[in-house]
Amino acid sequence: MTTTSVTTPAPVVGALVAALPAGRVIEDPDVLASYAHDDAEWAPHALPVAVVRPRTAEECRDVVLACLEHRAPVVPRGAGTGLSGGANASEGAVVLSTEHMTGIVEIDGAERLAVVQPGVVNDDLRAACAEQGLWYPPDPASSPWSTIGGNVATNAGGVCCVKYGVTRDYVLGVQVVNGLGELVRLGRRTAKGVAGLDLAGLVVGSEGTLGVITEVTVKLRPARAPEHTVAGYFDSVVDAGRAVAAITAAGLTPSALELVDRTCLEAVDAWKNMGLAAEADVVLLGRSDAPGAAGDAEAAEMMRHFEAAGATFAAQAADAEEAEALFAARRLAYPALERLGPVLTEDVCVPRAAVPEMLGRIQEIGRRHETTIANIAHAGDGNLHPLLITPIGDEPARRRAQAAFEEILAEALALGGTVTGEHGIGLLKRDGLQREQAPEVLAMQHAVKAALDPHGILNPGKGI
Ligand SMILES: Cc1cc2nc3c(=O)[nH]c(=O)nc-3n(C[C@H](O)[C@H](O)[C@H](O)COP(=O)(O)OP(=O)(O)OC[C@H]3O[C@@H](n4cnc5c(N)ncnc54)[C@H](O)[C@@H]3O)c2cc1C
Repeated sequence: MTTTSVTTPAPVVGALVAALPAGRVIEDPDVLASYAHDDAEWAPHALPVAVVRPRTAEECRDVVLACLEHRAPVVPRGAGTGLSGGANASEGAVVLSTEHMTGIVEIDGAERLAVVQPGVVNDDLRAACAEQGLWYPPDPASSPWSTIGGNVATNAGGVCCVKYGVTRDYVLGVQVVNGLGELVRLGRRTAKGVAGLDLAGLVVGSEGTLGVITEVTVKLRPARAPEHTVAGYFDSVVDAGRAVAAITAAGLTPSALELVDRTCLEAVDAWKNMGLAAEADVVLLGRSDAPGAAGDAEAAEMMRHFEAAGATFAAQAADAEEAEALFAARRLAYPALERLGPVLTEDVCVPRAAVPEMLGRIQEIGRRHETTIANIAHAGDGNLHPLLITPIGDEPARRRAQAAFEEILAEALALGGTVTGEHGIGLLKRDGLQREQAPEVLAMQHAVKAALDPHGILNPGKGI
């Protein structure tokens, strides 16, 4: 819900116009409205008083200084693909968009690192690295759109994270503007380094609450072997969950293990006509990037686990094109579902052995609250995305979905999990965070925030 419209410019707007080169500050209300929220349809938001699009770190600093002077909230924003309301504007806020900070400053093959501005799109960095035989692993399903700055601020996970880890595992250093308007470098560009507290690590996953990220140094790996892709069809989401638990227990290390259910496949088919939804209620997609025969062997073993858990069909993709189509459907599932109505996105993560139990509980919650719940999941990580879909304008359905959402969080915690595996707290999971963490731990988080942003201007009301 957009709550205000601004008629007279806030004083901070004049200060921003004075501090920045011409054309950086947007005041047109129609354009402002398009920056009011990210992809979390359900989270509250307001019309920002201005959107600024700096091009350099120094301009970002000047934005923060102007906002500090006027005590205006600064909401950093990458591509706005966030799913927790982290980039949503609040009352009186200035949205700082990094969309014009898209420079790849350096790719150093010898040191295996890249230095980038925050607005570089994930896939663009990956493509530039590939040209030099290098690989930047973190691959959120939003990689065609989301930015490295947003990925670092949310500590994004992704499809290959089951084997290669999340964004945090690849961030060596960051340059940030803190809440006092100081432009500082944190971290390092060496392979090792333990000088002082890990402040760069603190910024990773801080959702824009500790600093505006103006540059990122990431670790790279050599390009890897082509992947072998397998698919398993299941009649029940719980059987698919059992296959995931079995693959983990057997000690396999797939390079992807994703789950997509029929509701998602049908939505993708209705949109892109890919002919996917015919034969399965749930599809598990597995990948192995072990080189040569070892990859074939790992793929075959995954299929054996699919069958032992009750798969009605399991096969290896005939060629790269078929494999790519299956994963494209996985990536398109969320935007395809959004076409059906507002989607409330869950992001719980449970121990992998608890995946079948959690999937069963989600189904039961959906039934009890008469709520359509579609499922996609980074299943190999235990990171589940039940997607609660409500018809447009149906308020009672919306209330039922909200109740189901809260119950799913509670069940994840009861199984030893967390309320968010990768999307962040934003606005949607703030209650969940209170339930997950001890008061003493929450107090430690607030102490860190107060140290780095004493006036509370950086993305206030989000995250912690
Ligand atoms: C189809 C789809 C698939 C997705 N799949 C995944 C997935 O597989 N894994 C996953 O982790 N997420 C996924 N997401 C969620 C989302 O894409 C990620 O959270 C992503 O990292 C957000 O990047 P962004 O550039 O869009 O950031 P935004 O949405 O613009 O911002 C996200 C958060 O980061 C902060 N932020 C952005 N830039 C900066 C900066 N320069 N400095 C400080 N703070 C900043 C914002 O304030 C906000 O709190 C998906 C979303 C969609 C729509």
